[in-house]
Amino acid sequence: MLRTVPTDLFLGGDWAAAENGATFPVHDPATGKVLTEVADASPADAARALDAAVAAGPEWAATAPRERGELLRAAFEAVTARAEEFTLLMSLEMGKALPESRAEARYGAEFLRWFSEEAVRIAGRYTHSPAGTGRILVTKQPVGPCLAITPWNFPLAMGTRKIAPALAAGCTMLVKPASATPLTMLLLARVFEEVGLPTGVLSVLPTSHAGAVTGPLLDDPRLRKLTFTGSTSVGRALAEKAGHAMLRTSMELGGNAPFLVFDDADLDAAVDGALAAKLRNGGEACTAANRIHVANSVREEFVAKLTEKMAAYRLGPGTDPDTTLGPLIDADQKDTVTTLVDDAVANGARVRLGGKVPDGPGWFYPATVLDDVPTSARILREEVFGPVAAVAGFDTEDEAIAAANATEYGLAAYMYTRSLDRALRVSEAIESGMVGVNRGVISDVAAPFGGVKASGIGREGGHEGIEEYLETKYIAFE
Ligand code: NAP
Repeated sequence: MLRTVPTDLFLGGDWAAAENGATFPVHDPATGKVLTEVADASPADAARALDAAVAAGPEWAATAPRERGELLRAAFEAVTARAEEFTLLMSLEMGKALPESRAEARYGAEFLRWFSEEAVRIAGRYTHSPAGTGRILVTKQPVGPCLAITPWNFPLAMGTRKIAPALAAGCTMLVKPASATPLTMLLLARVFEEVGLPTGVLSVLPTSHAGAVTGPLLDDPRLRKLTFTGSTSVGRALAEKAGHAMLRTSMELGGNAPFLVFDDADLDAAVDGALAAKLRNGGEACTAANRIHVANSVREEFVAKLTEKMAAYRLGPGTDPDTTLGPLIDADQKDTVTTLVDDAVANGARVRLGGKVPDGPGWFYPATVLDDVPTSARILREEVFGPVAAVAGFDTEDEAIAAANATEYGLAAYMYTRSLDRALRVSEAIESGMVGVNRGVISDVAAPFGGVKASGIGREGGHEGIEEYLETKYIAFE
């Protein structure tokens, strides 16, 4: 299938090799072997893409919202029609199991549909000043040329969640996809080309020199916005640079989601929710349940059931139809997971399942359950980004809330309880941008996705998503 996937840069509407002819390899995480080579954008290529975005900006901003919406709708139809191609490609380059890729193909496409509908609902307001001496007209305008930097864990959806609202708002955009998974974004660029997106509105620039290529863009006063999804450490450095340039920024960063199971929970539902929150995307999700805090009175029963269900996951290449748990993205990620599990065990955690890297090629790590994880273990503070369920006990609701908030992160949190009072009380006390109550999966195109604290700034999806790409202008009238 790789023969049909573009490997050149999508430079403002044209396909081009890097100006210096450089390429870099994309690997198969299941074998460690090279899948293909992709054009390696240089700073000069990025400058050309920005030139194109700036040139296309005014006409795109003036394009009728309905027309922008219909282009996005056409892209939604095209991605949906090619869903199996996207599915296979994501399983190949990112490693996730086919059902996960299939779910992402649907979820990623939905942002195109959602924002095709939002394009025609950009509203302002008209009012009178309190003193009755003037009229106040408030209107929204596109921010202007944007740079999007995206991670490898959701190669399609992390792109469409930015591209769709930007285009709907009338902005032009440059996308720098993760170097581990550039192919999916290039295929998406092909879709936009085929549905007739005007020249210059979108560029996709894979590169193996992220900092060198994006740095000069951030310093260029023609760029108006940076939207980033990735780790908190890289996000912090980029936010600092963007702050200097006074860029609008959206930062979707790392997570350390707590998953609370109270003693009044439906335990079977909680186990299923924990499975979904933990093993969705093989555990490589910013919303993944990183720490599972369970009321001590039901902990043994919960852990036994969770262990039994996690043991049924089948580790293998993402493209194998029997696989339910694919490999990790690369050797570094495998080392990180191994180190965090070893550290927890050295601190006294009990291994109930897994915990050992299998022999053979590829970057595999098995489904793992750790119980009795002590607060001294790094895994309770750091994002594990792998299929490891770390369980710790609590006795009181206050203890559970304190444990949930004992992190610099604040993206997602989950709880299982049958008490409506408790659900509301705990939801309000938890410091996170999103809370799932009796649900293990919370992502929804119609909901504002985003975090607080070190998990970021801004929201994607929902009605809020398009606002990130709009400036408010006040026009005073006599
Ligand atoms: P990452 O290492 O921070 O990389 C993210 C993107 O930033 C990649 O495209 C990367 O390029 C680029 N990058 C790295 N260094 C850069 C620099 N100096 N200047 C400009 N760009 C740079 O994160 P990741 O490992 O790909 O993704 C995993 C992280 O993303 C996790 O922490 C996860 O929680 C977070 N995440 C958050 C959300 C959310 O919505 N909050 C969603 C998904 C993932 P290269 O690929 O070339 O390194």
